Amino acid sequence: MTTPQPTLPPALNFIAGRWQDDPQAARLPVHDPATAQPLGDIPLSGAASVEAAVQAARTAFRDPAWRGLPPIARERLLHRLADLIDAHAAELAAIEALDNGKPIAFASTVDLPLAAMWVRYMAGWPSKLHGRCIAPALQPAGSHHAYTLRQPVGVVAAIVPWNFPLVLALWKIAPALAAGCTVVLKPAEQTPYSAIRLAQLIEQAGFPPGVFNLLLGDGTTGQALATHPGVAKISFTGSTATGQRLVAAVARPLTRLTLELGGKSPTLILPDADLSVAIPGAAQAVFFNSGQVCFAGTRLYVPRPLLDPVLDGIAQVIDAFPIGAGSDPATRLGPVVSARQLDHVLGRIEAGRAAGARCVLGGHRIDRPGYFVAPTVLLTEDRHNPAVRDEIFGPVLTVTPYDDPEALVELANDSDYGLAAHVYTRDLGRAHQLAQQLEAGTVWVNTQLTPDPAIPFGGLKQSGWGRENGEEVFAHYTETRSVIIKTA
Ligand code: ADP
Repeated sequence: MTTPQPTLPPALNFIAGRWQDDPQAARLPVHDPATAQPLGDIPLSGAASVEAAVQAARTAFRDPAWRGLPPIARERLLHRLADLIDAHAAELAAIEALDNGKPIAFASTVDLPLAAMWVRYMAGWPSKLHGRCIAPALQPAGSHHAYTLRQPVGVVAAIVPWNFPLVLALWKIAPALAAGCTVVLKPAEQTPYSAIRLAQLIEQAGFPPGVFNLLLGDGTTGQALATHPGVAKISFTGSTATGQRLVAAVARPLTRLTLELGGKSPTLILPDADLSVAIPGAAQAVFFNSGQVCFAGTRLYVPRPLLDPVLDGIAQVIDAFPIGAGSDPATRLGPVVSARQLDHVLGRIEAGRAAGARCVLGGHRIDRPGYFVAPTVLLTEDRHNPAVRDEIFGPVLTVTPYDDPEALVELANDSDYGLAAHVYTRDLGRAHQLAQQLEAGTVWVNTQLTPDPAIPFGGLKQSGWGRENGEEVFAHYTETRSVIIKTA
């Protein structure tokens, strides 16, 4: 059984409030990951479209129709958008399941509620963003009046990946609009359709033309957008390699940049953990969304005496996951997103095995059309094994037994990445200690994968720069301006 196939919106750019093609652009096919069949194609938008989108966003940024709005009116527009996302949730979830391959069961209960709630949370902020009055330290009391303003930075280039196409686009669009910025969104070339539908809803919500613009294309389009001098701020989520390329690209214009990049997050089961919580938690932390989650718990550390029960428990959890097309409501584990990702994941499994990891579950492509990888567990005690070190971004877990709990922090921190960590223990004192010692932007204790719009999120080391969400995100979308007035 499958849900009815949604009608996909036309693959057009949305620039200055108008839907337009890029007639000069080459076209790139978009595939259904569950069948490998084409769903349609998108323009690889070129320089003229990038120019038009950035200019539209610049014009809208200066236009009193947006700049002059009372903050409460920006709130109302965002609430209207959240209402529209809710009203079209079933359709958007079906698009997400078809385009990305993720199970509709999760698209409709995780992605879509989160998408709307992110917008609602951010809708509360426009009227609460303000500067401060500051007494100058060096001037006689009462002789000067000094204060700060929080000004929106300008045009935001939001460049997003394919694993949570709608949610991650809104992680950027909602706070940028709340701050009073204008936006050019470049969705991932593998998963453009929910962003196109979102752009239609943003138009319907009544945002002034040019406040939000959509540019379809691949990395070349993304690079042209990111390096455009009219862009004030780049908010990027994607691979560490692309993040590094962006850092090099903005060295000259010094464009503000936040980077939410890769991860290789550890899951630590402590000897006192409640295994009835830890085992399903550890499995969910890596297999949810077929492991295509930047903060997935991909390295599991288990006390040696608990290794067999934990491996058995994970095998049982995996056995209970129906594998299939995202559009099948029974599916809990879908395909990976693309043929390229399939090759990458299988190649990384092979590299791990070749370096000595023992495959205790899965380890192969599933024999059916589409890009399906069997949930895989690799057992290794070698911290240098490539499966332990490299981000795989697929349903692949490495398991390492340990003897000395005191050595755990060093083991967990031995990674180029620092996005998240998951800890299972009944000892809350130890949990608080670990929360300080683990090199991770988020530490989950006795739970996993629960991002929240109120809670800052981001990484250390090669996992990125800056924090999204919560009040902290506005540090990226606003600029502090100081005003000093001599009064006497
Ligand atoms: P992946 O390798 O998993 O596809 P990427 O980091 O390449 O991840 O892609 C994430 C997003 O970044 C996508 O929207 C993609 O088109 C875009 N992108 C890729 N390369 C560049 C680049 N050099 N500059 C800007 N954006 C890019």
